[in-house]
Amino acid sequence: MTRHENTPVPVEPHGAYVSGAWQPGAGETRTVVDPRTELPVAEVSEASPEQAAAAVAAAAEAGPAWAATSVEERAQALRALAAQLRQDADELRHLVVQELGAPDALAEKLHVGLPATVLDATAEAAGEIAWQRRIGNSSVELEPVGVVAAITPWNYPLHQPVAKLAGALMAGCTMVLKPAEQSALTALGLARAVDRAGLPAGAFNLVLGGPEIGAALVGDPRVDMLSFTGSTEVGRRVGAQVVERCGRVALELGGKSPSIVLDDVSDSRLEAAVKVTLANCFLNSGQTCTAWTRLLVPRSMAGRVEELLATYLARHVPGVTMGPLISKEQAERAERYVAGALNQGARMLRDREAEARRPRTGHYVTPVVLFDVDPSSQVAQEEVFGPVLSVIAYGDEREAVEIANGTRYGLAACVWSDDEERATAVARRIRSGQVDVNGGRFNPLAPFGGFKSSGIGRELGVFGVEHFCEPKSIQY
Ligand code: NAD
Repeated sequence: MTRHENTPVPVEPHGAYVSGAWQPGAGETRTVVDPRTELPVAEVSEASPEQAAAAVAAAAEAGPAWAATSVEERAQALRALAAQLRQDADELRHLVVQELGAPDALAEKLHVGLPATVLDATAEAAGEIAWQRRIGNSSVELEPVGVVAAITPWNYPLHQPVAKLAGALMAGCTMVLKPAEQSALTALGLARAVDRAGLPAGAFNLVLGGPEIGAALVGDPRVDMLSFTGSTEVGRRVGAQVVERCGRVALELGGKSPSIVLDDVSDSRLEAAVKVTLANCFLNSGQTCTAWTRLLVPRSMAGRVEELLATYLARHVPGVTMGPLISKEQAERAERYVAGALNQGARMLRDREAEARRPRTGHYVTPVVLFDVDPSSQVAQEEVFGPVLSVIAYGDEREAVEIANGTRYGLAACVWSDDEERATAVARRIRSGQVDVNGGRFNPLAPFGGFKSSGIGRELGVFGVEHFCEPKSIQY
């Protein structure tokens, strides 16, 4: 790998980490670009399909010994890796900032802080799992699925690989990670932390590369399970290929999540709902699968909501509080969705000052709020993956639930009400894997994943570990 002058952080000059050893990549060379400056950061030598096959072989070879370790040993390994990530936090933050353009504070707290928390939480959850239980005349035991291929996107470049690593390794599986090509450096940073933390050789392997290296893993019959996070289109295709040979799959895909304000909210709760929904929708420049991208409000409150949105929108400033989008293509795509919505009769709110001050270099998009959005229109149905919030007015609660459930996705949601029981009842009618009541906090122990086209399976906590297990019944 060649480092450019503007790369402040050295990373291992390798394209693969297999059986506890670094290998130079024998595949394509790819340039990693800083989306803030549009300048190259590094030339990465990616792995070849042969190296991907060797990584699967290494994971398979390391499997039995790792599966034979005790739950406590594996929990200790996760805790050691969490400690290592905390020790490497500065380096990792630099890598995330360069590749994603995330503001420093976000990179530190969320991108680097959360993965360490997830590892500790998974180690804690392991103690609550019924690894072996008696059911009638059977001993039912959880066994690791085997070799896991993990394929991840770029938007949370450390968290997504770590969420898979935590569940898979805790279950006793071994794995090969193929991260997104746009975030190869952060993945190298993770592999370096694994190496420094002293995890056994072959338990975690890394191959850098694009779709072709992902395809090599997906097509390898020695891979027992595919754990994929990314777009619904790719996930469906690669998942089907693995299911075809009766392999196991976990798919974490897209979302179009609603934030639903019920008609009983006080003005102060309405303020909170608007403020928190905007922050959630624009988190990571809108590149978050769980983003609440549709704000559903009672028709009678639409005017007040518009006023509040105008106030709070001014707080989200590209180049100051918000980073750029990952690429020119993504930025143009977001603008196309906005233009399409305007053509279909929506109105737009965009902070003029923020737009005037937006850096002209870098893939920045000034945040947008769209009003009078038709719930069946493209912008209300499809994932934009940019800072675009659609406001949809509804008549009664039944209609709100119908609109909330009226997309192909079901990943996350939020319900706002002064009556927690009522909010909970509405939450139960929402077809999604997570629902926050009045902005409830993220819980690293709670199962994470989607209904419908948002995916199959769950990550994190007890459920996340169990998804990497096969139950076996032994009868007496
Ligand atoms: P993507 O589907 O294009 O790519 C994801 C990963 O799949 C990358 O590593 C890519 O190299 C690989 N890939 C692409 N084609 C492949 C193929 N044919 N065979 C094997 N691997 C292949 O997604 P993206 O654009 O990188 O990420 C954005 C998407 O990810 C959004 O739709 C977002 O909602 C979703 N996402 C979902 C979650 C979740 O947990 N549900 C989390 C983050 C992102």
